[in-house]
Amino acid sequence: MIEETLFSRIVNGDIPADIVYQDELVTAFRDINPRTPTHILLVPNKVIPTVNDVSADDESTMGRLIVVAQKLAQDEGIADDGYRLIINCGDHGNQEVYHLHMHLMGGRPLGPMLTRKQTD
Ligand code: AMP
Repeated sequence: MIEETLFSRIVNGDIPADIVYQDELVTAFRDINPRTPTHILLVPNKVIPTVNDVSADDESTMGRLIVVAQKLAQDEGIADDGYRLIINCGDHGNQEVYHLHMHLMGGRPLGPMLTRKQTD
C-alpha cells in the first residue's frame, strides 16, 4: 500500500488547507506559499507519487486535473489573460512533495518559463 502523503492528508481533511474544489477524483487547494496572485495546487485524490508513476488507469484522473484547472482559472478571473500549469517531476524537476500535483499559477505576467544559466 502506498503510504500517506502531506497532500493525501489534506485530501482526507486530516490537516487544514484552503480547499477550492473537490470531487471523486481530484482536490484543489491554495498553495501555502503562493508565488503568484493565483497559485492553486491540483492533486489526484489517490497517491500517485510522480508523473513517472501515472498508469493508463489514471487517464481520467489526469484529464480531470486539466478540466478542473480550466474551471478554476475561469473562477479566479485569470482565464482570458492566461496562466501556467506546471507539474514538477523528481529531482531535476525540483519536486518537493511526492504526491503528483499540478500548479495553477497566474494573475500577473509570468515571464519566460526558465531563465538561462550564465554558463549555458
Ligand atoms: P513542488 O515543488 O512542485 O513539489 O511543489 C510543492 C508545493 O507545495 C510548494 O509550492 C509548496 O509551497 C506547497 N505546499 C507545501 N505544503 C503545503 C501545504 N500544507 N498546503 C498547501 N501547499 C503546500
